[in-house]
Amino acid sequence: MAEAYDDNNIFARILRGEIPCDKVHEDDHTLAFRDINPQAPTHILVIPKGRYVSMADFSENASDAEMAALLRAVGRVAREAGVEDSGYRILANHGPDSHQEVPHLHIHVFGGRKLGGMLPRKD
Ligand code: AMP
Repeated sequence: MAEAYDDNNIFARILRGEIPCDKVHEDDHTLAFRDINPQAPTHILVIPKGRYVSMADFSENASDAEMAALLRAVGRVAREAGVEDSGYRILANHGPDSHQEVPHLHIHVFGGRKLGGMLPRKD
């Protein structure tokens, strides 16, 4: 079972407009904004507006419309960021082994440089 949603997590506060973000896309179900500590020239976070802790929670409980909107937004922000031809990587951390820091589902979109191997070999 997914953990309970924390309404005080930083992305919940961004969604409520309590703290600012560098928004690049918004639709009925999705918000996308630039990561505050970018790991690549393009580093955008795409989040559902709904209260979903992680991919585990989202994949089990989100509506088809929410799921479709999230994936379409990922493709759209990558295209609009200009990294579709050069290439990009998407990543979503879930839970402790992945070091998920913010307990609101977010998909990272990285691009704009060579991104290296898929995973480090060790911790
Ligand atoms: P994760 O480790 O997958 O949970 O990633 C969390 C990401 O959120 C990190 O890349 C942070 O730099 C990013 N982040 C944290 N706070 C903010 C914020 N206020 N605005 C934009 N990005 C943030």
